[in-house]
This record gives sequence, structure tokens and C-alpha cells, in this order.
Amino acid sequence: MLVVEDDPGIATQLVRGLERSGYTADSVALGADALRRPPTDVVLLDLGLPDIDGVDVCRQLRQASSTAIIVVTARGEEADRVLALDEGADDYLVKPFGLAELLARIRAVLRRGQRAGSEVVRHGLECLVSDPGRLVTRQEIVERAWDEHWYGPTKVLDVHLAALRRKLGDPTLIETVYGHGFRLSDHAADSQAARAADP
Ligand code: CA
Repeated sequence: MLVVEDDPGIATQLVRGLERSGYTADSVALGADALRRPPTDVVLLDLGLPDIDGVDVCRQLRQASSTAIIVVTARGEEADRVLALDEGADDYLVKPFGLAELLARIRAVLRRGQRAGSEVVRHGLECLVSDPGRLVTRQEIVERAWDEHWYGPTKVLDVHLAALRRKLGDPTLIETVYGHGFRLSDHAADSQAARAADP
């Protein structure tokens, strides 16, 4: 966990509380430092930071990774909370808050993250992303994404792949090998594919 908080008292309290609860936690006081850190599972983000607007930090974190972001604000900053949620925050807490509520919200965003992960499998892109450049046959995709006893028309696969290509924004990312199957283009950026697969 990364705590982004410029009040040293609050930052220390939060880090201690998280560590007592079994998480590994660290804190930074500046938005710029938060953006330089490698991605963590969860970021607790104070919106009132001395260097960069917390909403901007939120937006940039979201663009760079799928880390769960819980925004922490003072009372009366509803507009900021709405903006932060629109910019990719997963949840928010209003100060002052108790450690028990914070921990419950952390568990909730982590659960949601796991569900999003299983969604990737259902949408069938995982077989392409897990090995870019490898030809994956139609049969293999149908078996892994739907059911090994699929007897219906494989047209449904074409419909899903067309939707995926639209979502990815670049139709060449998924190559069709006629009569065989599909493969994720070698030039596909992992992050781009992962973002598009996240419903
Ligand atoms: Ca602050």
C-alpha cells in the first residue's frame, strides 16, 4: 500500500495501522513522489497535496497502472471527490475516518480487482495476452472462454473479437490467421491490451 499524504501525523498513523493489519505500507508527502513509485496494490490518496492537485495525481496513476485508488478528502470537498471518481478513483473516504472503515474499503476494492481479473478470462482475451505472437486456434479460445462442450456456431467468437477490436481501438492488435485462429500482434503493448480487457 502507498499512502500519499502531506500531513506527517496522519501519514504515520495510517502506515502503522496498515502494518498492524498485515499490509506492507509506505508513505510519500508529494504527488510527484507518488507518480515515481512502482505500482502498488492500493494507493490512499489525499487530494490536498502541496505540489500537484490530487485529482491530477489520480488521473496519472490510473493511466499508468490498474492500482486501486482510494481518495481521502476533508469534508466539504464533494466536487473534488466526484472529479476524482470520474478520473479513476475506486472509492473515497472523508476525514476523519476510523481504521476499521478504511480496512473494510481496502478489502472491498481488492475484491473488486479480483472480480475484474476473472472477467478477463470470461471475455477470452486472456489466452491472447498471456502469449503475444502465438497463434491461438478458434477451438482453443472457445474451449477456454466458454465451455469445452461448445457445439454452437463459432460465429459468437467473431462477434466477441469484433467487440474487442473496437475496444482496443486498433484492429491490427488482434491478427486473424484465416482458417486457423487468432494471435495478439507482437507490437501490442501489454498495458493497452490489459486496459481494454478490463470491462
Ligand atoms: Ca493534505
